[in-house]
Amino acid sequence: MKPSAFRYALPSTLRDAIDIRARFEDSVILAGGQSLIPTMNFRLANPEVVIDLRKLDELNYVRVADGVVRIGAMARQRVVEQNDEVAAANPLIRETLLNVAHPVIRNRGTVGGSLAHADPSAELPTLLTTMRGAITVCGPSGRRTIAAEDFFEFIFTTAMEPDELLVEAAIPALEPGEGWAFAEFARRHGDYSVAGVAVTLKLGADRRIDRVRLGACGIATTPALLTECERFLTGKSPSPELFAEAGTLARDAVTVSDDSATSKVYRQHVLAGLVARNLTTAMTRTDGA
Ligand SMILES: Cc1cc2nc3c(=O)[nH]c(=O)nc-3n(C[C@H](O)[C@H](O)[C@H](O)COP(=O)(O)OP(=O)(O)OC[C@H]3O[C@@H](n4cnc5c(N)ncnc54)[C@H](O)[C@@H]3O)c2cc1C
Repeated sequence: MKPSAFRYALPSTLRDAIDIRARFEDSVILAGGQSLIPTMNFRLANPEVVIDLRKLDELNYVRVADGVVRIGAMARQRVVEQNDEVAAANPLIRETLLNVAHPVIRNRGTVGGSLAHADPSAELPTLLTTMRGAITVCGPSGRRTIAAEDFFEFIFTTAMEPDELLVEAAIPALEPGEGWAFAEFARRHGDYSVAGVAVTLKLGADRRIDRVRLGACGIATTPALLTECERFLTGKSPSPELFAEAGTLARDAVTVSDDSATSKVYRQHVLAGLVARNLTTAMTRTDGA
């Protein structure tokens, strides 16, 4: 199918993009088009105006400074994945991106597009949420920064106002000696997953778990923070039994019901296995391993 007729705008500055967005209520932002174009082709979205951000070089950057990785909304997923400075500061970012769709889609897809799309099965919203990252948006009344935990409100729904654009994602670097892991289970490589889990793990001088961050995609209406598991693990000595117990505890975080492809019980089973496995992987990557 082809999309219905629309008007096309190609602003060259963020200010122009915001002005056009404010003028046309029935407009959409086009970033990499990997989610938007299929919805337009299926006529699930029929906007009057499409605002293409591809000329906005001011949103196309990746910077690492002061312990934070800052990614402009228009940075392509593949560019971030291949950036060695980013991988050195926080290797969880590359490992997560390798699970997003296929390389051809990551070549076009942007980091901002994935976050704005807010699919609870998507990997990047879960990465931002797990890392307690932040998202900056900009509208007619200026910029504001929202904690990732507060940004994703529901399926395809964020805390952005209709006249705001997503401009930057900020992800903390890992601390020296901090372990990490992202893995997911999907029926076919590149598909959205049944469930996916992101972990960071840091041991204290006493070799107990000093800090653990755990988040999951595909299990709720937003990216899910597994805070019960984080609390359970903190202060304990890592062991296979402890990680298996954390996996069992994580099952309660699955709030989506059965769907045509997967039952809730199966999703819980997958999640429990991924939590235990990713904790083990993260542990082997800590200084204390
Ligand atoms: C076959 C296939 C498989 C895929 N598999 C996966 C997968 O496994 N995991 C995954 O995470 N994704 C997957 N995707 C989606 C892909 O990662 C997209 O790149 C991503 O969801 C959207 O990024 P985009 O830059 O293409 O955004 P677009 O498609 O251009 O936009 C997506 C939405 O975000 C809005 N938007 C975009 N940028 C901004 C902005 N700066 N400010 C405000 N709103 C904005 C748009 O208006 C639109 O509503 C898949 C896509 C395909 C086609």
